Amino acid sequence: MPQPPHCPHCPEHPQLWKDTSLTSEANPFDWRWYCTGCGSRWAPTHEQKMRYL
Ligand SMILES: [Zn+2]
Repeated sequence: MPQPPHCPHCPEHPQLWKDTSLTSEANPFDWRWYCTGCGSRWAPTHEQKMRYL
């Protein structure tokens, strides 16, 4: 399992979490990176979707 990316905004660059609240059986790739520090969300890149399933 590769390491998740880190938040570029927070001073301590915490690891991002996978927010799977949007994910469903029909849309297994529809998740976001989530930072607990600043509350930002990012859409994963295509490569990340393949690697972090
Ligand atoms: Zn952050």
